[in-house]
Amino acid sequence: MKPFSLSFFTLLVCLPLVLSAQTKIERLEPAFWWAGMQDSQLQLMVYGENIAATNPQLDYPGVQIQQIIKVKSPNYLFLDLILAPDVQPGTFSIAFHQDDKPVATYDYELKQRKSGSAEREGFNPSDVIYLITPDRFANGNPDNDNTPDTKEQTDRSNKLGRHGGDIQGIVDHLDYIKNLGFTAIWLNPVLENNMQEVSYHGYSTTDFYRVDPRFGSNEEYQQLNEVADEKGIKLVMDMILNHCGSEHWWMNDLPTNDWINFPDEYNQTNHRRTTIQDPYRSSIDYKKFSDGWFVPTMPDLNQNNPLMARYLIQNSIWWIEYAGLEGIRMDTYSYPDKDFMSDWTCAVMNEYPNFNIVGEEWSPNPAIVAHWQGGKVNPNGYTSCLPSMMDFPLQIALTQGLIAEESFSGGLTQTYEMLANDFLYADPSNLVVFPDNHDMDRFFAQVNQDINLFRLGISFILTTRGIPQIYYGTELLMTNPGNGDHGLIREDFPGGWPNDPVNAMTGKGLTAEQKETKKFFKTLLQWRKDNAAIHNGKLMHYAPDNGIYVYFRYLGDQKVMVVLSKNEEEVTLDLSRFREILSEGEPGTEILTGKQLILDDELQVPARTPMIINVGKRKQRLSTAEIE
Ligand code: CA
Repeated sequence: MKPFSLSFFTLLVCLPLVLSAQTKIERLEPAFWWAGMQDSQLQLMVYGENIAATNPQLDYPGVQIQQIIKVKSPNYLFLDLILAPDVQPGTFSIAFHQDDKPVATYDYELKQRKSGSAEREGFNPSDVIYLITPDRFANGNPDNDNTPDTKEQTDRSNKLGRHGGDIQGIVDHLDYIKNLGFTAIWLNPVLENNMQEVSYHGYSTTDFYRVDPRFGSNEEYQQLNEVADEKGIKLVMDMILNHCGSEHWWMNDLPTNDWINFPDEYNQTNHRRTTIQDPYRSSIDYKKFSDGWFVPTMPDLNQNNPLMARYLIQNSIWWIEYAGLEGIRMDTYSYPDKDFMSDWTCAVMNEYPNFNIVGEEWSPNPAIVAHWQGGKVNPNGYTSCLPSMMDFPLQIALTQGLIAEESFSGGLTQTYEMLANDFLYADPSNLVVFPDNHDMDRFFAQVNQDINLFRLGISFILTTRGIPQIYYGTELLMTNPGNGDHGLIREDFPGGWPNDPVNAMTGKGLTAEQKETKKFFKTLLQWRKDNAAIHNGKLMHYAPDNGIYVYFRYLGDQKVMVVLSKNEEEVTLDLSRFREILSEGEPGTEILTGKQLILDDELQVPARTPMIINVGKRKQRLSTAEIE
């Protein structure tokens, strides 16, 4: 037997010292960091009983304690570190001293960054994002449906309960997602939501550094992206900086009096998002909007507190670096402090210049949405580094226009005229376009379950400017009663649970219409994948006339003509109007049918059917075998 090593001997000697200590570090966040980040500052939040009575010390080349911050609660200590640009990856001990004796230690690791980490490419117009509600997609691991340290138990019969979907279920479906032609996934929030009830949606964070164990572990989330990356699928993380869940661990012992807004009495936000830009707003309305709570179970975080601001910024960067994220979707973008949001976007984009972040501002007004995008010159001087916004105005115009009767100003013209507002945006090509999402009636319900309108709308989303996002199950015509009931909008994906009577993966139990829709998506998505004119081409559109909306996407010698007709019967379209972009007699291939066309004087347009035409001789349509 090998004699006791020196390190084992040291451990024996030190052990009683640690055990006899009065101070236990319950949390230290972020638990580790990386060497070689752009920002040389790192602030650690240390939590433990009476930790503020200690004096932390460390000795590691390239790491200096800049400042120790004590706050109202004695159980917190904030430690500002400066990391030298050439600091080496490694582990150092932070010793917390009291009366010159260490009473607690923490081994802090600076990890090695993956090569190319800073240069990672975010989602962009070449991508189509598949939006997944993780609890409702697929239960890949029934063993984690309930865990000993989480309150709400799984109940699949409760539409607002947890159904057991998880990260493993998504891993199991990555080939399904890839084969359809999606190149990115956005998951609704995966962080711990240890709430009593209705915790499945994930928007009530109770631990910003932990994946909810009912979805899996941090490591499983990291591995999900490793597998996704191998399949050419990017991962977009849903984040919420506006609020946390009322069961968040810090709610029982807030660091400061101003850690959250309205800490003493519930004050709900008025949801008046226009108070940000309104030149006539009253201060009370503005404060109530920005500082009021979203709902009673979601305390509003005070990002004006610099410790809170730093905590949130580091948390985002930690997840990007840890999980290898290719994007962030930011919830309720306008609700947190607007200057903080500007700082947050710039901090993230400073670390990852090619990254992408999309903000949610659920407004029908493009002037309000455009205000937030980076590069926008606002009258009030507001700027940020936010690359992308969700295009709610276009979503609303599209769906309302599809079900409206065609008239001079109604119908397809609503979409046409909404796009004309693109002059308001700093970068319309980077907006995320979508027919629906997890918060609204499913698109099929929004178009009154009219399969023709559905196909026209999806064709538009996948061919107009921007980055399309499709909600899970849309490819199967998943629908809901149209009353906005979230539990029914977020129904379980068929085949995600053992013994489901319908299985989207195998095709078992799908109706002919569902199979046809899946094929329709696959044809469009696979075609879109390699179509530079759709990704980066310019857009030229023609005022809708006689119930037909025509537009072109073009780049170099590539040209795509899209014809969307709402007419109940086949009509003849005179092509002479399009001569500035379409030469007489150009050949084309309609990609949904494979039909070869000669675009001379007229085009026969079938009733209520999208036509997507590759203009030119290039054969870009997949063979039937490739689509099946
Ligand atoms: Ca599960």
